[in-house]
Amino acid sequence: MGKQFLLGNIKVPGIHTYDVYRKHGGYNAAEKALKTQTRDQVIEEVKFSGLRGRGGAGFPSGMKWSFLDQKSDKPRYLVCNADESEPGTFKDRFLMEKLPHLLIEGMIISSYALGAKTSYIYIRGEYMYVLRILEKAILEAYAAGFLGKNILGTDFSLDLYVHPGAGAYICGEETALLESLEGKRGLPRLKPPFPAIAGLYACPTVVNNVETIASVPCIVNISADLYNDIGIGKSTGTKLISASGHINKPGVYEIELGLPVEEFIYSDEYCGGIWKGRSLKAVVAGGSSVPILPANLILKTAKGEPRLMTYESLSDGGFVSGSMLGSGGFIVMDETTCIVRNLWTFARFYHHESCGQCSPCREGTGWMEKVLHRIEHGHGHMSDVDLLVDIAKKIEGNTICPLGDAAAWPVASAIRHFREEFEYHVKYPEKVKDPKHFEKEPFVSEKLERAVH
Ligand code: SF4
Repeated sequence: MGKQFLLGNIKVPGIHTYDVYRKHGGYNAAEKALKTQTRDQVIEEVKFSGLRGRGGAGFPSGMKWSFLDQKSDKPRYLVCNADESEPGTFKDRFLMEKLPHLLIEGMIISSYALGAKTSYIYIRGEYMYVLRILEKAILEAYAAGFLGKNILGTDFSLDLYVHPGAGAYICGEETALLESLEGKRGLPRLKPPFPAIAGLYACPTVVNNVETIASVPCIVNISADLYNDIGIGKSTGTKLISASGHINKPGVYEIELGLPVEEFIYSDEYCGGIWKGRSLKAVVAGGSSVPILPANLILKTAKGEPRLMTYESLSDGGFVSGSMLGSGGFIVMDETTCIVRNLWTFARFYHHESCGQCSPCREGTGWMEKVLHRIEHGHGHMSDVDLLVDIAKKIEGNTICPLGDAAAWPVASAIRHFREEFEYHVKYPEKVKDPKHFEKEPFVSEKLERAVH
């Protein structure tokens, strides 16, 4: 097992409570930052650590913080994006449920660095029981003097609130989240202006993911130098991966960035291999929004190099032969998976969650869903396959927010890598009418080189 910065104490009984968390070194980083470091020093530490946003985009966190409008005399806000709705992603829920004080400590240090006196954790409505855990932990932190006025006798004061969403995937997009937090319908805003200039209540705002903020105490504790030493190149530190699908050991794993994908899938320390002794068919590496990769390309890049769990290696080959680390929602599919059915499921989701503001997304997601439904149910035409590619192309890059791209990329990549399977559905409609068609007789592509495992 590699280094465990976030989940190192996860098995300590009662670690979700203030007393146990504190006894195991909790809030030492907040104390160190508030008492011995200036705000700029904390920002520099986070910059130097190389920490990148763990929500999906992978943008350097320190750089994002430095964009905050320093000249504005308006209040500044830090908002934690806990609207974890990406299919296949459940690591933030795990972190908040098991280690609520780690997130609160991260919020304190990050708010201090940014000069925010009021901060919010925006949590998805479906995580109501986690909200209660967080609220209890926040009360404990107030009682211990880590929240409220003049924290630890310094001139820094902070109020922290948890705010539930109402079940819309789109509120994971930062500007839709801010709209929702302001009490409005969660519609993404046109950018610019970006939240760093005009965010919550038109004030300078930073929106960071749960795991990103929870990584800050670790950086302050061990130093940016040491954090930066872990990982490879611009992928530093550790990352939580939510592993699901056809594996022996689904769950949340903290990995050192740079771990080979093959080791992650087959090692007993992590996923423990493909269940029922079956073969690996495909992986969606970073939540449902990223391109799907067939077994040969998830294990090795097109250049034949081992694929690593890093931002760079997973995207090696661009969208032709690569994908993205994304949110770390790692969905594994075995040989019995029907790619068309899987894609139709995703398409239904994106159609349902489209906010409807822009026509390519509003109309295109529904159109893709319909076409995929008819192919999967044995009513497709050969021309439907190219029609899907065409619709995806027309959505990509032509929408207000990334949901459009998120709906288009899986379709384009699935047809790029599994076109024969779509054509098989059209050629043999009677064979695909049973929803479990590939469980009885796995589809074997002549073109795809299968993993040997
Ligand atoms: Fe709404 Fe889709 Fe446009 Fe995003 S891309 S703003 S979800 S219609």
